[in-house]
Amino acid sequence: MPVCCIRNCKTRTGRAEESSKVYYFPKEPNLRKKWLEACKRKEEELKQTYSVVCERHFLADCIEEKWTEQRLKNQSRVIRRLKKDAVPTEYLNIETERKQRINRG
Ligand SMILES: [Zn+2]
Repeated sequence: MPVCCIRNCKTRTGRAEESSKVYYFPKEPNLRKKWLEACKRKEEELKQTYSVVCERHFLADCIEEKWTEQRLKNQSRVIRRLKKDAVPTEYLNIETERKQRINRG
């Protein structure tokens, strides 16, 4: 089962359509490096598991929606895909953010 690579992210995938959308690491080396930096992971860590990043770590701008046409069934549905060069930037440090909030209050 793929697990989100962002530390402390509680998203678990697997329950089909209800679970968060996840994205696999890009193969393109430069982009892959950026993802690794965002997750604070090393290449070796990725190889041990199916590595994904869930949708919440991307700005809406990074995601494009495409309608697919399934003419046979007369149904269309939206597929959400990452834009080229998208890098995770959101909720990368969940635990730290929580602590900062407590200190402030
Ligand atoms: Zn996540």
